[in-house]
Amino acid sequence: MPYPAYHLGVSSFFGLALRRFLDLPVLLLVNIPIDIEVLFADKWPEYHRHWHFHTLLVGGLIGAIVGLLVFHIKPVLRFITIATNKLRIPYKPKRWKMVLSGVLGVWLHITLDAIYHYDVQLFWPLKARHLQRPLWRIVTAQQEEYACIALFIAAIVLYVYAVRSYNKKKR
Ligand SMILES: [Zn+2]
Repeated sequence: MPYPAYHLGVSSFFGLALRRFLDLPVLLLVNIPIDIEVLFADKWPEYHRHWHFHTLLVGGLIGAIVGLLVFHIKPVLRFITIATNKLRIPYKPKRWKMVLSGVLGVWLHITLDAIYHYDVQLFWPLKARHLQRPLWRIVTAQQEEYACIALFIAAIVLYVYAVRSYNKKKR
């Protein structure tokens, strides 16, 4: 996707909608290391841009590692806890929830990218022809962008609900 904002909207939506099972901060954070690859690959030809991080295998591993690191690096965890408190989102860090969220967060990211970009190879290193780009343009780029914007707006509504339940708990 051309703008990280699209990813953040979709991740926020799922993170807030499935707050009980998923870790919102990790879902948001994993978008960064995954797209760092694209930044570094900027000078490569276009078809070579989305590479190993944008695969279910390597991306999933990176997501799991990010989830673990966020849980175990105490200053990071403290920062996230303070931030969620300031934003009035109920939050309780749990290790396996964070690992799961790291993996699913990356898979969500690369699924969106695989629809949008021709060069994402989700199933690398598998070489079967029907696995090469099964999602590419199953909807048009514009439809996907509209869907991301819709989910972003839905995320704002979910955020309001999260704040309400935070306030109820604090009372
Ligand atoms: Zn990406």
